[in-house]
Amino acid sequence: MSKVFIGMPPLPAFGSGNLNLTEPFPRAAARELGNQQLRSNLRHATHTIRDKRLKVVAELPDWEELRDAGSAIKESVMADLPALLERFEANFTARGGKVHWARDAAEANAIITELVRATGAQEVVKVKSMATQEIGLNEHLETEGIAAFETDLAELIVQLGHDKPSHILVPAIHKNRTQVRDIFLAEMPGVDPDLTNDPAMLAGAARSYLRSKFLTARVAISGANFGIADSGTLAVVESEGNGRMCLTLPETLITVMGIEKLLPTFADLEVFMALLPRSSTGERMNPYTSLWTGVTAGDGPQDVHLVLLDNGRSAALADEMGRSALHCIRCSACMNVCPVYERTGGHAYGSTYPGPIGAILSPLMTGIEAEENNSLPYASSLCGACFDACPVKINIPEILVHLRGKDVDSRRGRMKPPSQMDLLMKGAQWAFSSGTHLGLLEKGLPLGRLAAGRSKKIKHLPGLAARWTDSRDIPAPPPASFRDWWAKEHVPEAPITQQGGEA
Ligand code: SF4
Repeated sequence: MSKVFIGMPPLPAFGSGNLNLTEPFPRAAARELGNQQLRSNLRHATHTIRDKRLKVVAELPDWEELRDAGSAIKESVMADLPALLERFEANFTARGGKVHWARDAAEANAIITELVRATGAQEVVKVKSMATQEIGLNEHLETEGIAAFETDLAELIVQLGHDKPSHILVPAIHKNRTQVRDIFLAEMPGVDPDLTNDPAMLAGAARSYLRSKFLTARVAISGANFGIADSGTLAVVESEGNGRMCLTLPETLITVMGIEKLLPTFADLEVFMALLPRSSTGERMNPYTSLWTGVTAGDGPQDVHLVLLDNGRSAALADEMGRSALHCIRCSACMNVCPVYERTGGHAYGSTYPGPIGAILSPLMTGIEAEENNSLPYASSLCGACFDACPVKINIPEILVHLRGKDVDSRRGRMKPPSQMDLLMKGAQWAFSSGTHLGLLEKGLPLGRLAAGRSKKIKHLPGLAARWTDSRDIPAPPPASFRDWWAKEHVPEAPITQQGGEA
């Protein structure tokens, strides 16, 4: 007798892999803030890219209309995702490709390992892919005895440095040229020992190292920026040409793509090809765009696979307010304008997705109840710069506030010691509940000025408040409270009394 399913379908599964923080954001951020070199590298890089972006965006009189169009296309994709995925699969398969569905990181890694094993290869080349970082593919392949070589220059620097990417677009943004030279000298086989930190020399060293990999690898693994449902076409956008080498030279090509990357028609791509390069690198057009549709006999890889990855995306889609985070085209514009990211760098966000988009995407994919990620929605000043910069108009501040609310709700009723924020709010409630309470607190102002001393900064507070001053100084309080100042400046005038009486 066959089983009959009665009841509600299961809830969407949350994502796993490199999405969870291993320590809360405030602790990681405090550590990163102490790294002067990191802060100066980040400041230089983000300001350079953001100035370039502003210039090329200003060239387009219809930039706002383009943003609206991008946002509308993405909204329609989210509303119709299951049907678009089916259409994409049918067209990709009809043209000789094979589609594999992966619910989470473990399933995706197992599928890819099996596909590589089937070729007999022990090495693969990779073109930059956030999805494979998200599932921890390189680490997984290593445990299976398969070596994965990153071919994007910045990714290569991170990989050789046994480090983690700290930016979506410029993964090695936290390294300067001298640090890169030191990594190459220590880790790159066959490198010229007289290598200097001259950019041309560094690029040359990477080129000759990678060339041998491109020419010998039989399997390549790529990400995809877009998938077009109507034709079953995949697209990769990049700057160095390494992607094109990976996508054309090996016999087997395995692409890993998040299910949200679909566009309905080829015409939709036009909008994103205008939005993406301008927002990410501040260029009018990206140097290399590769598009492929299945297999072409005698040309390029003859064994073409696509792993369609969920890993928490349907959970994000189920959140009505948060789902627009899936509109993200990974341009990194929000990171380059974020005052929090500029000071802490990407590592503090723990997940593959750093910065403002990471602060909403990671908790949406893992669930805000995952304790590891519940500090992320607070990693923002809510200044709104990310919303202004986002080419697809994701209202990041609004989603941050929504997730903060969800976090508070998820902790209601749990017997937990009050947090620093809980105590602060309780104190504020008491202080502002009556003028007498506030007056009492104001009497402590001279004490505060005394504690600040000559530097006019309070550098250390005792007890629980010490966690606040551990990473920031408090300016000395003013000599008088606002209410005292007001009382002094606005001495009530004597009431006007009638002079002389009525005529
Ligand atoms: S959220 Fe917007 S600005 Fe940030 S990376 Fe995604 S598309 Fe770019």
